Amino acid sequence: GAISLPQVGTGPKDDLSAYRGVWVFAEWRRGTIHRVSYELLSAARKLADKKGVPCAAVLLGSDLDAAAPSLLEYGADTVYVIDHPNLADFTDEAYANSLVALVREKRPEILLAGATTMGRSFIPRVAALLQTGLTADCTDLDISEEGLLLQTRPAFGGNVMATIVCPNSRPQMATVRPRVMRPEKDARNGRIEKVTLPEEVFQTRVEVLQVIPEEDVTAKLSEAEVIISGGRGLQKAENFHLVEELAQLLKGAVGASRSAVEEGWAPPSHQVGQTGQTVAPTLYMAVGISGAIQHIVGMQGSKVIVAVNKDPEAPIFDVASCGVVADLFEFVPAFIQRLKRE
Ligand code: FAD
Repeated sequence: GAISLPQVGTGPKDDLSAYRGVWVFAEWRRGTIHRVSYELLSAARKLADKKGVPCAAVLLGSDLDAAAPSLLEYGADTVYVIDHPNLADFTDEAYANSLVALVREKRPEILLAGATTMGRSFIPRVAALLQTGLTADCTDLDISEEGLLLQTRPAFGGNVMATIVCPNSRPQMATVRPRVMRPEKDARNGRIEKVTLPEEVFQTRVEVLQVIPEEDVTAKLSEAEVIISGGRGLQKAENFHLVEELAQLLKGAVGASRSAVEEGWAPPSHQVGQTGQTVAPTLYMAVGISGAIQHIVGMQGSKVIVAVNKDPEAPIFDVASCGVVADLFEFVPAFIQRLKRE
């Protein structure tokens, strides 16, 4: 059965029945709408049909004329467009304040957003400003017999699935991870409505000076022919450059064990293994990695595995095609020198 959580905060004092409709925050960044928004819109459409209420998308950004129509194809009756130069780059303040202003005016009963970097950053702020609840990372959404949003998510380390409802405040808010719902086109003759809001909601104390897009390491790692991975054997952050230099000389990508990622020597996107990436390059070189099973499962499909470890008993040698029993601080610099000479 559904768990009814005690209400946090004061909640809106007004009539809950004044809230109507299912909304999706449509995530837009530099001209592109995130796929999760279409996924959520398809889910929202079904929830709205079940309740017999309208379904809407809210698009925030700048110069949105080209982006808005695609949302109609996925079932929105209305696409609310909040178009302002201050929304060209994402900032928590301006995004939260403008979304909150529109919610206060139009009063949707359900508001959904993607559990993306953007959603995770500002949607809790929206919930706090509206003094309502938020269920993060839902894996399923449905409507109860009483018409409430049933928000299902794993709890207690994934051991139980909890179904959460938010009976006493509005909107009922949930985030859903990308690729949980399926996007389905379902156009309903919807319309686009440009919204004008008071100028102060767009004010922010944050000025974005420069945006540097992160290179797609995930694609780079899974497609790399050569991967040089570093582990805890490197001992400290400054030493990780040995792995990076080797990767550069061999025209390969940099991987890491979870220990190296946890130490902060490499970003999580570089992690190879059970909870990281699965890779299968022509050459995989493990430097100072013991070869725990959780690491092995992510790289055992590699064609040639070279392991450098000072411990001859290290399990990595069980899967290695070529084992180098040596102190990496002697072997790797010597190897680098040799490659530089060639
Ligand atoms: P260690 O096990 O500490 O090994 C360091 C190695 O470096 C040792 O073998 C040592 O002999 C060698 N060494 C030390 N100094 C030198 C030197 N000077 N020269 C040469 N060799 C040296 N791990 C992953 O990698 N990926 C995952 O996705 C992953 N998922 C996990 C999921 C779960 C649920 C759990 C429980 C664990 C997971 N782990 C994962 C962690 C995994 O169990 C290991 O703890 C981790 O892989 C160990 O990392 P490491 O080999 O870098 O460190």
